[in-house]
Amino acid sequence: MGERVFNFSAGPATLPLPVLEEAQATMVSLPGIGASPLELSHRSRWFDGVIEEAEENLRGLLAIPDGFHVVFCQGGATQQFSMVAMNLQPAGGAAAEYVVTGSWGERAAGEAIALGPARVAWSGKDDGYVRTPDPGELHESVTADAAYVHVTSNETIQGVEWWPETPIVPNGVPLVCDSSSDFLSRPVDVARYAILYACAQKNAGPAGVTVAIVRDDVPRRIPDGLPAILDYRTYTEHGSLYNTPPVFAIYVLMLVTRWLRDEVGGLAEQLRINRDKAGLLYEAIDESVGFYRGHAVPASRSLMNVTWRLPTEELDRTFVAEAEAAGMIELRGHRSVGGIRASIYNAMPLEGVRQLAAFMRTFAAAHG
Ligand code: PMP
Repeated sequence: MGERVFNFSAGPATLPLPVLEEAQATMVSLPGIGASPLELSHRSRWFDGVIEEAEENLRGLLAIPDGFHVVFCQGGATQQFSMVAMNLQPAGGAAAEYVVTGSWGERAAGEAIALGPARVAWSGKDDGYVRTPDPGELHESVTADAAYVHVTSNETIQGVEWWPETPIVPNGVPLVCDSSSDFLSRPVDVARYAILYACAQKNAGPAGVTVAIVRDDVPRRIPDGLPAILDYRTYTEHGSLYNTPPVFAIYVLMLVTRWLRDEVGGLAEQLRINRDKAGLLYEAIDESVGFYRGHAVPASRSLMNVTWRLPTEELDRTFVAEAEAAGMIELRGHRSVGGIRASIYNAMPLEGVRQLAAFMRTFAAAHG
């Protein structure tokens, strides 16, 4: 096996080593079956057990109440942008409202606006997406007759996260959340959402599967005539097995959720660890007295994607190159915003973050 580096990629992202080892051990032949997880039917007894455990683990970790479906889709979070709009926007009905705190919310809103009545209720774009709105601003911008309100719990590109949680919306308005990059990183009150969705390739597994948690009343609102693959009922009514699901991705997601349950000990403990890890990097930023400039305002700082800049773009590039030479890869900020981004999802070991914080101090001392 080649040596492993610390991989700060925003997604697909680093996975827990025990999960990779388990997938490696079963890759050629699953015990008692004699075939690879890549070769087995989604109608096999083996996969019945896998998808059942994946759902059960998610229900346990997130304390998902009765009355919610857990479904496994493909098409990434991007497909959810369209599915949410197509499933929840009645033709000729009230507009959907989007609270946009970064690039992904902007994309989601764009998709909904193209498909039906929808509008941006609040946007942080003019400030450069550095924060979430405060309750007063939201109260003024979100209306009580919206078809639904859509939020992004963590903006992966800007590193802006809602704390302590996403907003309370007017009574009865369905709340929809793109939780792609903070899914399973902290406890969530699932009961507040009509739909909460997340692509897997940050905290939950490899690319190829997307989880949607869908409240019971959503299927009743869905207009007829949608393509089957874009209708949530196709998933809720067939246990996500209407057509061939991404078998291997769901298998690895099951292993990740098992790891979170058994090795980490649940999401409250994971949040504690995530606070410690992010704290190390924000401390190094704050301590550098302006050499490193964090992107988000402190109250909206992400625990998953820590974003900052150096005094010049040239120093950004030198930082990334020297970090890579020291065994820390994928620290370049998203191509649309530049700067540095350290994605420190659940599977990033504390040791990797310690090493990066130490590197930041040494680098600042040499170049500051
Ligand atoms: N939303 C968020 C918050 C994301 O981080 C991403 C991917 N980085 C997406 C949506 C898009 O996901 P996908 O590439 O799976 O369509």
